[in-house]
Amino acid sequence: MTTQSELTTLRPAGAVGSPPQAGPAAQAPAWLSPPDHSSLSPTVWPPSAVRDHAGIVRIGGADVVTLADRFGTPAYLFDEDAFRAQCEVFREAFHDADVYYAAKAFLCKAVVRHVAESGLFLDVCTEGEVQVALAAGFSPSRMLLHGNNKSDRELELALSLGIRRIVIDSFDEIERLTGLARRLGKRPGVLLRVTVGVRSDAHDHNATAHEDQKFGFSVHTGEIHDAVRRVLADDVMDLCGLHSHVGSQILETSGFEIAARRAVGVMAQVSAERGRVLAELNLGGGFGIAYTGKDHACSAAELARAIRTAVLHESGRLGVTPPRLAFEPGRAIVGHAGCTLYRVGTVKPRPGLRTYAAVDGGMSDNVRPALFGADYSVTLGNRMSTADQTLVRVVGRHCDAGDIVVRDAYLPGDLRAGDLLVVAATGAYCRSLSSNFNHTPRPPVVGIANGISRELIRRETVADLLALDVG
Ligand SMILES: *Cc1c(COP(=O)(O)O)cnc(C)c1O
Repeated sequence: MTTQSELTTLRPAGAVGSPPQAGPAAQAPAWLSPPDHSSLSPTVWPPSAVRDHAGIVRIGGADVVTLADRFGTPAYLFDEDAFRAQCEVFREAFHDADVYYAAKAFLCKAVVRHVAESGLFLDVCTEGEVQVALAAGFSPSRMLLHGNNKSDRELELALSLGIRRIVIDSFDEIERLTGLARRLGKRPGVLLRVTVGVRSDAHDHNATAHEDQKFGFSVHTGEIHDAVRRVLADDVMDLCGLHSHVGSQILETSGFEIAARRAVGVMAQVSAERGRVLAELNLGGGFGIAYTGKDHACSAAELARAIRTAVLHESGRLGVTPPRLAFEPGRAIVGHAGCTLYRVGTVKPRPGLRTYAAVDGGMSDNVRPALFGADYSVTLGNRMSTADQTLVRVVGRHCDAGDIVVRDAYLPGDLRAGDLLVVAATGAYCRSLSSNFNHTPRPPVVGIANGISRELIRRETVADLLALDVG
């Protein structure tokens, strides 16, 4: 264990797990209003989340007290009906486009099956993700492979399986994939990833389309046109179009509209200079969701309308046929389908500051607060309380002062050890970014559909971890 003052002096600013800002008498942030704990806001919780007459939270019809008894805590709860409904929302809103669910947000075989049944495509980045999809019977002809440093093995796998699209990220990859495709006698459908020079307003690590970062071919320097020339010169690969992904957790439409217009501009230039029509424009993912009352996310319909209008307008202006659009939402499909169930172990009132409530998980099951300063919403899950609401910081059990679960929350003043807390909107980038920090076994993922719950991913055990330790 390290003390807070040691951490403050030892760690560079902004490092993962930097200690929370200590201040005198902690104040609630302006956006945080004392919640009405009798209702669970539908902008943050899955539609099925309710508090029953006994004050117990139910997700998908299953009550969290029973879930905690059966599956233990912490546990990721996954509302399968909410996930399917959200697949449907995106399929309908983007009915004239191809929608790929971004596997990296959260993937398991049950998710793959829901994606398949919803008629969506699947965006994968590694052999591991491909293998989960294959294990659930997903057709490679509906997958798209990403990655700025795919291995030869992954590229060969993509070619031999006949993966629908491979998104090329570098000149090295053009050479490698051309060679492999020639050797295997395949003609893959490829997209070139462009960097359109949009800096998203999201956290810096989440922004991927400005110039000084690792992804794509730059529009600004003209690199993208060299890449197009190289791919067309060999004619081993079928150049289907362009790909642009501007970042993650973006709450406005303007970044997507600018990216779309710039990409259409590149397409028009390719068409004018090489007489080659690039028919497909994949605008990636990054659609933001609400985590707390301060976030206002666009609906899928608003996004679709804004982006479609920008593409049609720019295509018309440049006199080119509008490309077929494709999207890769991850968080916006899965984020609200998941919540995390924790049990409180200690409650520490810090007079004049706030109360610290420690739960049995933390940064190993949700690293986003430590990594991005992410905020979450939390509610008492196992009972009704009429006690006054008090300002609480929900922290984890790990040996790091940056181990925060919910930075600021109002919770009943009689919160005590043994209570259950439910954190909303943990469906995306929690399980998928989880770790075994402190040799903590990962929690299970409990799927809930029609009130019936079952483990989709079982809880890890210390034996699982020891089995890897072969030294
Ligand atoms: C991460 C990523 C996505 C999904 O992002 P979300 O923010 O979850 O929608 C889609 N496409 C690419 C290329 C990505 O890197």
